[in-house]
Amino acid sequence: MSTNKKKIIVATGNEGKMNEIRQILGGEGIVFSSLKDEALQDVEIIEDGKTFAENALIKARKIAELTGQMVLADDSGLEVDYLDKAPGIYSARYLGEDTSYSVKNKYIMEQLAGVEDEKRTARFVCVMACAFPDGDAFTTEGVIEGRIAYEERGENGFGYDPIFYVPEFGCTTAELSPEEKNKVSHRGRALTAMYEELQKRMIL
Ligand code: IMP
Repeated sequence: MSTNKKKIIVATGNEGKMNEIRQILGGEGIVFSSLKDEALQDVEIIEDGKTFAENALIKARKIAELTGQMVLADDSGLEVDYLDKAPGIYSARYLGEDTSYSVKNKYIMEQLAGVEDEKRTARFVCVMACAFPDGDAFTTEGVIEGRIAYEERGENGFGYDPIFYVPEFGCTTAELSPEEKNKVSHRGRALTAMYEELQKRMIL
């Protein structure tokens, strides 16, 4: 039991992301509080940035302003090279916010039907933003390179994980255990870089 844990607000309503963030940094003397924990889940945040970094900063700055505390926010998505980096910043909204990932994933594979291995390259990108109530902010980034699979595989993870094949591992990110995925994922890498940056700035 620790009473001197540092609280960091994370500007997300996505439990999948909160779990990954807790798994990566949760044991390091930090307790993470979600928008729901802060009763801020209904705050409207308009993500109208043109890049992952802009959108992450919009979310972190808005909640830092509202709470008067330091806030972390991430923006992430899948870039498929053959589709000119779509869905990119529109990953969550691709084909409509309420469309299931089974439909989104099948659609992407259909777009790449007959496309050879070398041209199926894709990456998950994550930008983590840290914002302070005075408006000061900075970002870190993490990337994992892979390829669009020929069929959905794996039950772990969420979103596009079942079609994101990582040649190094010989499986999709949905076939990795949460611990394995966190070690190599875009969010894991962005968070590790964020942790190092916060330590460098003597915030942690
Ligand atoms: P955000 O909430 O605006 O960052 O949207 C991120 C979207 O990108 C998610 O809803 C997923 O569609 C996709 N995405 C991001 N990270 C992952 C991942 O690790 N696995 C699968 N899909 C992801």
